[in-house]
Amino acid sequence: MAGCKLVLEGRVSIKSFVLGLSVLLIPLVRTCYGRADWVFDYLTETPGKIAICVHIALINGLLLILYRGPVYKVAVRACFLGVTFGCGLMISFSETNWTHFGWYMCSLSFFHYSEYLVTAIINPRTLSLDSFLLNHSVEYTLAAVSSWLEFTLEKLAFPELKQLTWLSVVGLLMVLCGEGLRKAAMLTAGSNFNHIVQNEKAQSHVLVTSGVYSYFRHPSYVGWFYWSIGTQVMLCNPVCILGYTIASWRFFRERIEEEELSLIHFFAEDYVEYKKKVPTGLPFISGIRVN
Ligand code: SAH
Repeated sequence: MAGCKLVLEGRVSIKSFVLGLSVLLIPLVRTCYGRADWVFDYLTETPGKIAICVHIALINGLLLILYRGPVYKVAVRACFLGVTFGCGLMISFSETNWTHFGWYMCSLSFFHYSEYLVTAIINPRTLSLDSFLLNHSVEYTLAAVSSWLEFTLEKLAFPELKQLTWLSVVGLLMVLCGEGLRKAAMLTAGSNFNHIVQNEKAQSHVLVTSGVYSYFRHPSYVGWFYWSIGTQVMLCNPVCILGYTIASWRFFRERIEEEELSLIHFFAEDYVEYKKKVPTGLPFISGIRVN
């Protein structure tokens, strides 16, 4: 992989994400011309919101001029994630009691954007709009919407529950470690990594047992599991902490069984030996039984 150039879509995504991040210029420009302590509160004020809407419309116009067809579709998604990350940062540093929601916006947008970028680096042949994982499944979207609803409702009913900074910091650490582990797994597995579990062995597919794969058999799932629960710990959402834990656990248990069936078929004794030595990494999930 050394010396390989990033594919066009990958490069477009970086430029568009950074373009989206340029929403941060609005409060920064304000710093130069206004009172410094207003900087990050700008998002919460009406003129700030209008300025951000105009800015988003302008950068979208720019994307329409710069890109066409499928590349535009990549650009608009990456830009949207950049805007979300930028707004998340603004909220995180503002004098509001939505700070932890700002952290959450950064975590979510960074996760989806980096899934695309890392796929572009390690496995460009499989790169598509689905690599953003924005439309992962109906259940995934429902889970996200439920967590926003729970956060908002509880913020109205029990505002003090949403100000448990120590708990949000625990969530943030879970998100950072989970994200780091998942991306380390993707980079270690390289072209053997795939967002869609493969049932047919590609000629180039080799068994990966090094790096993070020497600690866990399914490091990217371990990372995603703790990342997803971490987002809810960060939001201090008790119902979703429980719901996400159960749903993710069941999802990964099923997926690991399906995946290991293929892996044993692909690598036979080599995988069985590896399976004996290395745990899945997920609590109470041991993978497929081998007789
Ligand atoms: N379950 C792994 C990889 C997820 S990507 C993890 O959590 O990190 C899914 C693809 O990875 C599947 O197509 C599967 O065939 C492949 N895969 C899983 N473990 C692998 C390994 N140790 N070596 C090579 N390929 C692997």
